[in-house]
Amino acid sequence: MNHFPIFLNTAGRRIVLSGGGDAALAKLRLLMKTTAHITVFAVHADDQIKAWDADGKLRLIDRAMEPGDAMCAALFYAADEDEAEDKRTAAIAHADGALVNIVDNLADSQFITPAIVDRDPVTVAIGTEGAAPVLARAIKADLEERLPTSLGTLARIGKVFRKAADALPFGRPRRDFWRDYYFNAGPKAMSDGEEAVQPALDDLLADHLMRETRKGHVSFVGAGPGDPELLTLKARKALDEADVVIYDRLISKEILELARREATMIDVGKEAFGPSTPQEVINELIVEHGLKGAQVVRLKSGDATVFGRLDEEIEAVTEAGVDYHIVPGITAASAAVASIGQSLTRRGRNSSVRFLTGHDTRGFADHDWKALAQPGEVAAIYMGKKSARFIQGRLMMHGIDPSTPVTFVENASRADQQVLSTTVAEMEPTLTEAGLGGPALTFIGLAPRAALAAIPEIPLPQMQEQIQEAH
Ligand code: SAH
Repeated sequence: MNHFPIFLNTAGRRIVLSGGGDAALAKLRLLMKTTAHITVFAVHADDQIKAWDADGKLRLIDRAMEPGDAMCAALFYAADEDEAEDKRTAAIAHADGALVNIVDNLADSQFITPAIVDRDPVTVAIGTEGAAPVLARAIKADLEERLPTSLGTLARIGKVFRKAADALPFGRPRRDFWRDYYFNAGPKAMSDGEEAVQPALDDLLADHLMRETRKGHVSFVGAGPGDPELLTLKARKALDEADVVIYDRLISKEILELARREATMIDVGKEAFGPSTPQEVINELIVEHGLKGAQVVRLKSGDATVFGRLDEEIEAVTEAGVDYHIVPGITAASAAVASIGQSLTRRGRNSSVRFLTGHDTRGFADHDWKALAQPGEVAAIYMGKKSARFIQGRLMMHGIDPSTPVTFVENASRADQQVLSTTVAEMEPTLTEAGLGGPALTFIGLAPRAALAAIPEIPLPQMQEQIQEAH
């Protein structure tokens, strides 16, 4: 490292620049971010520089530099874009005791100006010692995108709040508080305007102080199939009191919006973690926040106890000594069967119903296909899209009546719900041809009630009875 990065205090100091063209303009734009007194020497100054002079933003002297002009200056920029003139002005400034930079001349400069990401008072300086300006620009662009524009305002307000935050124990509790402020509660409050930040900070501190004395708790909450009106009151209450919400890919946006505004939202179904977050990482996240004293809501689609790997999470939580409870939710099968006007069990037809998964960790899941192939059986298949052909094959192999109804319900309870009614004989390629993109539940042995009339196999008296029931 030849160039050592430091931040120079320019308050009340002079910065002198010689030049009036493009190079001068580019440097002045940066320098004017500081509170330094800027003096520009230029015989032919750009109109913009003249305007800045008129506005009092800098002082323009329309002559060439002379010895003594850079006296007491902290920095000097030679920006005439003329080798001989730059050499002359640099020598004067050097003699006057200023640190000298010659624009686009690394070798003869005493310092260089980095690429800057400005979230004042947070400033990021990026330098490559002239080796790779393209790289510096790419890093700058990347950081510009990642750091919220409100960061500077948040830092300014946060600075004044430091004393108050000292009420939290030093170390992890204080660090967690500030992280929560800068990356969660602060930006959220900023979206309501700067004046919302201070009250948000007060609330956040009260919250974190309470966490210190309170034990953590994990609520495993069933979020239902997607329609927020199908949330239980207990689920709403848990979301309302949550410090942290850890949620899956299938949770709808409308439901996430019901979480307490200050809550930290953690998406564990996000692409950034790979196709889905590994179960061990989810377990660790739940435990980590629980141990910190947070009220954690582990939000799962449908009912948490149905194909939700709930036991693994409960085991991790109990092993860590964190309390938990389960809030049941409406499972996809319940929502889907409601949408087709049927019931899962029916007197005289089926006295039991099976909830199956289409595939498990080892691939297509095996089940008692022989029992399922019997007349009148009803099964609700979760994650059954990819395995539809496999299920069809197994059922046919065990002699199911090919005209047995099959119904796919995609996005049950949501505005974009779709129902696809078919038979075992045709479930594939019907499903593939329909190209359903959302989560879908497959019913074997159930048809939408309105579609019953179209199934000729049903004896007329029974059909009449069913139609009567429907009205
Ligand atoms: N615990 C959840 C199931 C998780 S497994 C529950 O009780 O509903 C994920 C599967 O659930 C999906 O592949 C799909 O088969 C089903 N599913 C979840 N939400 C659904 C919805 N809104 N409509 C249809 N099927 C859904």
